[in-house]
Amino acid sequence: MPSDSDPDVHLRGRLIRSLGLLREMLPGSFVERKRACGRPNCRCADGKNLHTQYQISVLVEGQPKTFNIPAALVEQVREKIEMRRRFETAAATICNINLRRFLKQKEKP
Ligand SMILES: [Zn+2]
Repeated sequence: MPSDSDPDVHLRGRLIRSLGLLREMLPGSFVERKRACGRPNCRCADGKNLHTQYQISVLVEGQPKTFNIPAALVEQVREKIEMRRRFETAAATICNINLRRFLKQKEKP
């Protein structure tokens, strides 16, 4: 079987199997914002020691939306947004492999 030794097919299989690990992926981008809370006695009142607010910025039905991320979920959400990037990279690689295979197949009589 020549296709068993085809490195493209091997890579494609590996990528497909890895996608299950990305099932918790989230859309959009991870945003880090500095802000003042407005309380006059807070450390942020000097305008330098601002609070950090993490947000997920995402299109919902074509409209840009921003959602605050609770502190306890920041690392989890950051990782899940990163999963989407890995998913898209894998999908693009699979598509390129399949295009190469299609073009090769076309050449054969
Ligand atoms: Zn403050």
